[in-house]
Amino acid sequence: MLDTLGNLKRTQYCGSLRVADADKDVVLMGWVHRRRDLGQLIFIDLRDRAGIVQVVFNKEQYPEAHGKAEELRAEFVVAVEGRVLKRQKANPEIGTGEVEVLATKLHILNNSKTPPFQVEDDVTASEETRLRYRYLDLRRPKPHRNIELRHRIIFEIRKALDELGFFEIETPMLTRSTPEGARDYLVPSRVHHGQFYALPQSPQIFKQILMISGMDRYFQIVRCFRDEDLRADRQPEFTQLDLEMSFPRQQDIFEAIERVMERACAVVGVQAKGPFRHMDYKDALRRYGSDKPDLRFGMELQNVTEHFEPVRATLHIEGNVQAVVAPGAAAWSRKQLDELAEAAKSAGARGVYTVKVTADGFSSPLEKNLGADGLKKLAEAVGAKAGDLIVAAAAKEQIQHSDTSLGVAGQIRLYLGEKLNLIDRSKWEFLWITGFALFEWSENEKRWVSAQHPFTGINEEDLDKLETAPWECRSKGYDLVLNGVELGSGSIRIHRQDVQARMFKALGLSDEQARQRFGFFLDALTYGTPPHGGIALGLDRVVGLLAGEKSIREVIAFPKTTAAQDLMAESPSEVDVEQLDQLGIAVKETAKKS
Ligand code: ASP
Repeated sequence: MLDTLGNLKRTQYCGSLRVADADKDVVLMGWVHRRRDLGQLIFIDLRDRAGIVQVVFNKEQYPEAHGKAEELRAEFVVAVEGRVLKRQKANPEIGTGEVEVLATKLHILNNSKTPPFQVEDDVTASEETRLRYRYLDLRRPKPHRNIELRHRIIFEIRKALDELGFFEIETPMLTRSTPEGARDYLVPSRVHHGQFYALPQSPQIFKQILMISGMDRYFQIVRCFRDEDLRADRQPEFTQLDLEMSFPRQQDIFEAIERVMERACAVVGVQAKGPFRHMDYKDALRRYGSDKPDLRFGMELQNVTEHFEPVRATLHIEGNVQAVVAPGAAAWSRKQLDELAEAAKSAGARGVYTVKVTADGFSSPLEKNLGADGLKKLAEAVGAKAGDLIVAAAAKEQIQHSDTSLGVAGQIRLYLGEKLNLIDRSKWEFLWITGFALFEWSENEKRWVSAQHPFTGINEEDLDKLETAPWECRSKGYDLVLNGVELGSGSIRIHRQDVQARMFKALGLSDEQARQRFGFFLDALTYGTPPHGGIALGLDRVVGLLAGEKSIREVIAFPKTTAAQDLMAESPSEVDVEQLDQLGIAVKETAKKS
């Protein structure tokens, strides 16, 4: 027989009890984490959101409570009345370790089936099982901590932005396509058969319209939807901190975000202090081979192309050759070098050329090509010392208007940084990247596409090149990077209708296509649009980094798998024929699951 909650009132959280609570009478409620039956004494670890406390049932003192405690199993829900006692021997493993609760009365409020895995942080169950039983998985201390942290960070961000004069304004979820470079999630309309809403890839157009509406400063903690191939740090639906300002200088947007990040970091005791560093996109590529460089370690790239000129034909080198100097890696074994070569290949290298620098000279497969003298010159040029390993690489594929060797070497740099433990984990290296190109060449589509999105402003001096030399146009876009992770991007926008129309044209949209897709926006732009700009940060990534988690799934209450499924709710799922009929939709025979 289960007990009822009745008029019982909890006095505090289990996990909050401390030695100062000794001798207090308490009423606790929670889940049975573990039970140990020693005959005369039964111990349970009682768990709630705040942590675990040990409860003792003593047969001699409180036989009725003890008798009931014999029925307890893992994950039963109970209320315990009792008294807090200082423990003889403290348990340093848990926050409540200096006390325990002697139970005077036990109320069993609910029972539980045996869970498919133990509710513990070092859970051995597969991620699939954990996600299927997400409600049990979330009972573990770590998800509780992460979800609380997420709440605290978001709360702090809201406070900071309110203080800066931003209004939080909601924008529609049922809307039309926003061009952020992914596929849309579509929602069929019941009222207008054959027509579809798109879930927003971002609130981009709406936030710009809010600036046209004179709202001046907007922000939103908002869900965005992008149907693209998933990776560890991507979800089909994810949360952005989205903001937009009227009449801003780039610096004003940076400052707003710096204030926000300082406050968010302070939640985990990290001191971030604006102004953050700035780096030009081209410099970031040249020095780190990445538009999101991890500045927690050095090991900058060095262009060593000229040293490889004599062997270009023999080694089938195309394009440039970049090198990094890996400190201490001259001692690497054959196996380690093979693994490095493998990693370099999957990063797109044609070949990876290594030179071990020792006290006695050099050892390298390149010796037969470059000669001892060539190796010496190379080592001098890159400043390698005894004990170092020079790692040079050229890219397999060449793309016009870009130096692919940089990206390859950038990935080699990250690989070496990780393997050689060069990354200082105590550092929080924020970085603004500016000076992006406005367009990227799309090999697939054989046309210039927006490097960011088509509303990104154009550097005034480059306006004339919009039609003639799009690859030379620089954008007014910027990215915020933290420890090698892109937190988000934004820009000062195009606010003139004529420029926006030229932009659509440069992207290959005819007047008609532009009108059909963005007519309402082009119209809005003609009614006194203020200069404006903004940014959006991936909030899941921000929280993930601050929580020290590798995967953003760890900081999302109900994440999807990499196959875009919710294993608990079993979505996506088929729907009733009646529902499809109402929508005027039929599923193609070939698309049905067998
Ligand atoms: N809408 C952009 C994005 O989602 C951000 C921005 O430009 O503000 O990436």
